[in-house]
Amino acid sequence: MSPLLTTDRPIIEVASGTISPEVLARRLRSIADRPEGALVVHEIYRSIQGESTYAGLPCTFVRLTACHLRCNYCDTRHAFHEGRTRPVAEVVAETLAMGDALVEITGGEPLLQSEVYPLMARLLGAGRTVLLETSGAVDTSEVDPRVVVILDVKTPGSGEAASNLAANWERLHPHDEVKYVVSSRADFDWSVAHILDHRIADRAKVLMGAVHNRVDPTDLAGWILETSLPIRLQVQIHKILWEPNARGV
Ligand code: SF4
Repeated sequence: MSPLLTTDRPIIEVASGTISPEVLARRLRSIADRPEGALVVHEIYRSIQGESTYAGLPCTFVRLTACHLRCNYCDTRHAFHEGRTRPVAEVVAETLAMGDALVEITGGEPLLQSEVYPLMARLLGAGRTVLLETSGAVDTSEVDPRVVVILDVKTPGSGEAASNLAANWERLHPHDEVKYVVSSRADFDWSVAHILDHRIADRAKVLMGAVHNRVDPTDLAGWILETSLPIRLQVQIHKILWEPNARGV
């Protein structure tokens, strides 16, 4: 393992050999020079939560800038670079002013910026339910256990399976959720084997979704029914309610 570039503390590691230091630095340039106590924020907005076991609820989303991965189906590439540097206190105030009991911190990869920890602590302290959507490729050991971690396990079809950090699976709490996004039947079979091999369903809730235009969700539903595993099929509600490529929803 090798430490990932951060401006203050070495909280992040990536699997060795998955990405060169030069590429990593280039991908993180947009957040590397942020001042202390500040976050680079792509957007803050209200919508209906489209995924997870919280789907359907009003939710405030805080989308942070930058990601060190490049999943080939990524639908938030606009968050790789675009963002505004803002003090944590300002981000907290705007998020709380939205008034939702549910807040999701997402990205990009939100754990790339260490100020995400005081952000989550202050939102928890204000009584919010905090969801953290993370790639699974960043160490989650410092995440407050009150946070609901929604952890991706990258499938081979994503092109980023080598980035999965296995240690994160040991840290799951029963309220956490593990998400598999499948591009093919082969990805589905790989995911089922992963769930069984690592006892993921005993550790957390299991979510599974289909990559748009690669797998028909109806087919995925049938595949899930072939198993006896407690896999929760998720369709991205926000993409049904609004244009699939709409932003800020
Ligand atoms: S981890 Fe998420 S934000 Fe990063 S490339 Fe993959 S899908 Fe996109």
